[in-house]
Amino acid sequence: MRKPFVAGNWKMHGSKTSIESLVKGLNEQASQVQNVDMAVCPPAVYIDFVKANLTADNIVVGAQNIAEEPVQGAFTGETSVEMIKDLGCDYVILGHSERRAIYGETDAQIAQKTKVALAAGVTPILCVGETLEERESGVMEKVISTQLDAVIKVVGINAFEQIVIAYEPVWAIGTGKTASPAQAQEVHAFIRDKLARLNRAVAEEVIIQYGGSVKPDNAAELFAQADIDGGLIGGASLNAEDFLAICKAA
Ligand code: PGA
Repeated sequence: MRKPFVAGNWKMHGSKTSIESLVKGLNEQASQVQNVDMAVCPPAVYIDFVKANLTADNIVVGAQNIAEEPVQGAFTGETSVEMIKDLGCDYVILGHSERRAIYGETDAQIAQKTKVALAAGVTPILCVGETLEERESGVMEKVISTQLDAVIKVVGINAFEQIVIAYEPVWAIGTGKTASPAQAQEVHAFIRDKLARLNRAVAEEVIIQYGGSVKPDNAAELFAQADIDGGLIGGASLNAEDFLAICKAA
């Protein structure tokens, strides 16, 4: 019923040369993947270059972050949602744990960015997830609830019709440690149940991706879980063959 969605988060990786060959690989092989929505999220400076080179018509492009301010102004170094929209982005990753941990983004800022993206018609991929310490000290559900509540408070539950959620346990990102399918499913079900208490129809429709060391050899098992609707892929999305193998598994 929910169409799987797999997105590649290229993070701060790539050059024109490497991106040209990555996109070439996607162009050549993307038609092998069917019935899966796919997106790639390059660094902002390369979005236009990717758009110009990407001919695979089943892959769309997203950004990795936007400013809280929607349009333009004196905000040195920032990129607005209107700008990424102007370049043809359909999605924007928001609240990635690297943004939260390294750049100090708060729940309130992430909620504001979500609001701004929705208003511009760009779909947020809203990342939530706990650290290992939080999981081990038993506050995992509270942490994820707080992250979601901050956004619900600002945009309302019905807005989740236009939001993709990515559950990314921080301890599994770029570490090679994946949550087991059962561990991931447990959290995905928790998130869906939480939303269902506010609006059952929205909860049933919302895409919840899993992210954190997804690779071609563990993707199928993760995606087979009832509440896992695809993935947000970091490292493995930098290789066209691996990324498309993961997409095929969805
Ligand atoms: P990873 O990253 O697949 O390299 O673990 C996932 C992410 O951070 O989105």
